[in-house]
Amino acid sequence: MDKDAFYRKLKACRECASLFNHEPRPVFLGSSRAPIMQISQAPSKTVHETGYPFNDASGEKLRREWYRISDAAFYNPENFYITSVGKCFPGKNNRGGDKKPPKICAELWLEGELDYVENALYLIVGKAATDHFFPRLSFVDLVMNDQTIRGKPAFVLPHPSPLNVKWFKDHPEFFEKRLPVIRRHIHGALNSKS
Ligand code: SF4
Repeated sequence: MDKDAFYRKLKACRECASLFNHEPRPVFLGSSRAPIMQISQAPSKTVHETGYPFNDASGEKLRREWYRISDAAFYNPENFYITSVGKCFPGKNNRGGDKKPPKICAELWLEGELDYVENALYLIVGKAATDHFFPRLSFVDLVMNDQTIRGKPAFVLPHPSPLNVKWFKDHPEFFEKRLPVIRRHIHGALNSKS
């Protein structure tokens, strides 16, 4: 399948319609030329409603506090290709969090995106996306050490959701030691492009 046909089919995907209480809306953003490919879990309800990835409290923390880049830089499709292992909001579980993304989504779409995007580095955000690429490995070890995907540098981050506050408290080393390294690579990839 050529790239245009692939993305037409992805945008029109309704594979999980019977699993959701809402109409599926695949959310992803970016150019296949973007130097950074960010892969997370699945859109939140806010993202589902707006169609903009990370357009919520988690996204503000990620862009402004963690990456330290402007909204314009983050949403510039020539900078970031933003996607997730589940492209549609999966609905809420009975504990108030979001349900896990349907596994079928990554099986249907993620490999194709990895084929088409010519990024220089990967940012893997949150445990669900991390488990897809690095199953059964220690999440903390993955966060604290350099990884590779398809021979390219990959950095694993916890999800910036406020629900993750305990992980943040338990792992101050992420903020003190690891985040500055990840941030340097992000800025380096963006600067090397221009
Ligand atoms: S979650 Fe993925 S597979 Fe399911 S409807 Fe959305 S795009 Fe299609």
